[in-house]
Amino acid sequence: MYYVGRGSKESNMDDQWPDEGEPDDELPGETGSVEELLRSGDVLELEPDGTDLRLTERFEQAWHERIEQMRGGDRATRWLAASRGIDPDEMTVSDDEAFVLTHDGEQIGRWHSRAAFLATLVAEPVLNEWLSMDRLAELPDRQRSELPARLSMFLERCPICDTALTFTEDIAEDGTLSVSLDCHDCGATVASGFVEES
Ligand SMILES: [Zn+2]
Repeated sequence: MYYVGRGSKESNMDDQWPDEGEPDDELPGETGSVEELLRSGDVLELEPDGTDLRLTERFEQAWHERIEQMRGGDRATRWLAASRGIDPDEMTVSDDEAFVLTHDGEQIGRWHSRAAFLATLVAEPVLNEWLSMDRLAELPDRQRSELPARLSMFLERCPICDTALTFTEDIAEDGTLSVSLDCHDCGATVASGFVEES
């Protein structure tokens, strides 16, 4: 497995990163390397019963502090614009079915919600502080860029309103298992994915 996700399931969150094409086949030997990196970096830990992973309290706290700093007004979108070298006033924000940022007719990014955007946006700098840059650099680009979205599946509280999030699993008729992490207060979907059972 790529790394053990919440509920010990492997989630595919490609819909958060629409510009990166199809997922690469995972190479043998890569298995566990992301999980190992996150556990050795004190980002994830095993729950006391040893079956599932969760965020360490310290990392979750650091992540939430950063989320709270960026929550107000258009701070987060301006920060993203600055990091991409884009004039924030030329960026269009659409927060309807999904949270979509567009610049000059091109989609910069698409997230489930503003909550998902906020969580993934600030996860990156927090991860950069917590993990060894050398070891992060060793990860394939795709795994590195997916990390914030994958980690969002472990959040316990809504990035926008702090309500406890609800994790649901749904099995379709064809046996596909989908998972979703939602806030029942503000209605935001924070993360979702499909699980391919082997
Ligand atoms: Zn909420």
